[in-house]
Amino acid sequence: MPETKAVSGPQKALAKLGLARDIDLALHLPLRYEDETRVVQLRDAREGDTAQIEATVTACEIVYRPRRQLMVRVDDGSDTCVLRFFSFYPSQQKALAVGARLRIRGELKGGFLGWQMVHPSFKPAGGELPSALTPVYSTVAGLPQAYLRKAVLGGLARADLSDTFPPGVTETLRPAVWGLREALSFLHQPAPDVALGTLEDRSHPAWQRLKAEELLAQQLSQLQSKREREALCAPALTARPGGLHEQLLAALPFPLTAAQRRVGEEIARDLGRSVPMHRLLQGDVGSGKTVVAALAAAIAVEAGWQCALMAPTEILAEQHFRKLIGWLEPLFAPKGLRVAWLTGSQKKKERNEMLALVASGEAALVVGTHAVIQEQVQFRSLGLAIIDEQHRFGVEQRLALRAKMNRDSEPSPRRGSGGEGASTETSNGVGAQREPHLLMMSATPIPRTLAMSYYADLDVSTIDELPPGRTPVVTKLIADSRRDEVTARIQAQVAQGRQVYWVCPLIEESEALDLTNATATHEALSAALPGVMVGLLHSRMPPAEKKAVMSLFTGGQMAVLVSTTVIEVGVDVPNASLMVIEHAERFGLSQLHQLRGRVGRGASASACVLLYSAGEAGRVGETARARLKAMVETADGFEIARRDLEIRGPGEFLGARQSGAPLLRFADLATDTALLDWARKLAPLMLDRYPSLAQKHVARWLGGRQEFLKA
Ligand code: ADP
Ligand code: MG
Repeated sequence: MPETKAVSGPQKALAKLGLARDIDLALHLPLRYEDETRVVQLRDAREGDTAQIEATVTACEIVYRPRRQLMVRVDDGSDTCVLRFFSFYPSQQKALAVGARLRIRGELKGGFLGWQMVHPSFKPAGGELPSALTPVYSTVAGLPQAYLRKAVLGGLARADLSDTFPPGVTETLRPAVWGLREALSFLHQPAPDVALGTLEDRSHPAWQRLKAEELLAQQLSQLQSKREREALCAPALTARPGGLHEQLLAALPFPLTAAQRRVGEEIARDLGRSVPMHRLLQGDVGSGKTVVAALAAAIAVEAGWQCALMAPTEILAEQHFRKLIGWLEPLFAPKGLRVAWLTGSQKKKERNEMLALVASGEAALVVGTHAVIQEQVQFRSLGLAIIDEQHRFGVEQRLALRAKMNRDSEPSPRRGSGGEGASTETSNGVGAQREPHLLMMSATPIPRTLAMSYYADLDVSTIDELPPGRTPVVTKLIADSRRDEVTARIQAQVAQGRQVYWVCPLIEESEALDLTNATATHEALSAALPGVMVGLLHSRMPPAEKKAVMSLFTGGQMAVLVSTTVIEVGVDVPNASLMVIEHAERFGLSQLHQLRGRVGRGASASACVLLYSAGEAGRVGETARARLKAMVETADGFEIARRDLEIRGPGEFLGARQSGAPLLRFADLATDTALLDWARKLAPLMLDRYPSLAQKHVARWLGGRQEFLKA
């Protein structure tokens, strides 16, 4: 039997850090550096320096004021310095005995008692000084710096770092950039005379090279997936005069806003092409994305194809279902077409009926949750897939929906409908792989820099205007200790016949705690508001119960709804005029914005109360404070998204993409716009003229992770 090689602790830790290949090790750049190359004289040192000195111990004693500590005085011939240790072992005390000559490294503080260092590191004086700065890497438990340093240097020596940039492409970059090997060698072991500032702010030519490399890899992979998609084939769907699209427009109880018309045209243009659409429809909460989706669905159905609409929660899916049924079913009926509904909580019998409708094509529109992408769901002819709140779905789920167009059975439009619009004879050829058109919707607008980088493979349509007649929501920050006032506000709203949301935060670590919190709030409010129906909604309730609570609230019988964040998306109750968010400091900015979007949907004045915990106010932290302040100051989803990006970095926006795609490690979208522009221009050129270099470059940087970038 072959012996299984035991994987050592540090090896495991390396794997945990994602450092599998030599190139991964080589790209694991130091967090910072320590200068151990020089010994300085105390006389020449400056306040705040991290300095290395060699000195002799002249005193060593334990003192008790202000608290127990080992106090050591050393003298390097130019000046003296006091070393303080608040915790220490007897062995250390021994090594620090009077007369010992030591090499000491620590941060120098000046004071009227002279130089001091708190908990410096030390070892016996003498010994060779290193010739380069000492790198300090980010690491995990069980992986000592020394081991990691060796592993990184090994990886650096072995890795293939041959240049993948086409000749001549870096010449235009200012500041100039270095070669890759040169840059990496330098960053792992910089010469001691480097201006440390240029390493810290990453303006050094070695850093510039890495950022250029990284941005190029990202642009290449995005462009590649875009091109792959463009080689696929989709049914060309066009609206006919007098068709469903026009009928729906005529039936709507309101005129479209200019923005809705514009994005509708953008989408219609895509649908008319025989290349799969890959478009994101972004628009602030309440901007009216659903009707745009319905109009797209009408085009697809008119052309004889099926449309699927997937939403992340059952409540949201049901809302869509109701609305779409209301709008579309009257138009479908004369054609013998139906709307089907698929969720996880459906009874088997109902579900089977729905599945049959979907398979036969009688269900022209299929609305549901994740259930829509399950194995058993067979579409007859899926032509358009719409995903609401797209960032809440995983990459795999989006891929699965796209794969739902049945590739084996050559789907074709229903007979007798559509006509010319349904043709799938395309310039991409009869044999080309088929995909449905894909429309993703999101209320979290993607800031421009992110759109240019992470979403470069996506076409974006933006609804930048709210339907008329909305009154802005007034946002107030109120300390938790003033709950009574909030209850009084609720009372007043309810007395006017209005409805109120009260949202409790999700406590990540403990669903149970989460529930206790919501339950307690529910009880307290029920007690404080006698005669008022106060409901409770949380994520662990059985779907039927959730549905019952929701329909009481949407029906207006229930005045106050206490819930965990399950109502975060999509709920549309225009009569709701007050939103209270408890422990607002625990929510992300985009989340708060989405929640706030649940009110202010009618014409009357609405308010959002952000309750923060006053006891913790001092510790609420800079970012939380900045978040809450931003909420009070602006109601513009784009502005909020921009600030969120500033405060939290891009992770928040990438949603599921994050799991597969590495965030930019080296480049910073806020400051490296020149490099981003350069990479954007270079990527198409490189794919055309240097495809194998492009391939090599992407593989080096993204390894096996490209697949995820395509979803
Ligand atoms: P979201 O973009 O957040 O999904 P919805 O599609 O739910 O927004 O629309 C919010 C509300 O605005 C709905 O009640 C919808 O019927 C209504 N609405 C949409 N478009 C218009 C419009 N052009 N004029 C008036 N009301 C509209
Ligand atoms: Mg919506």
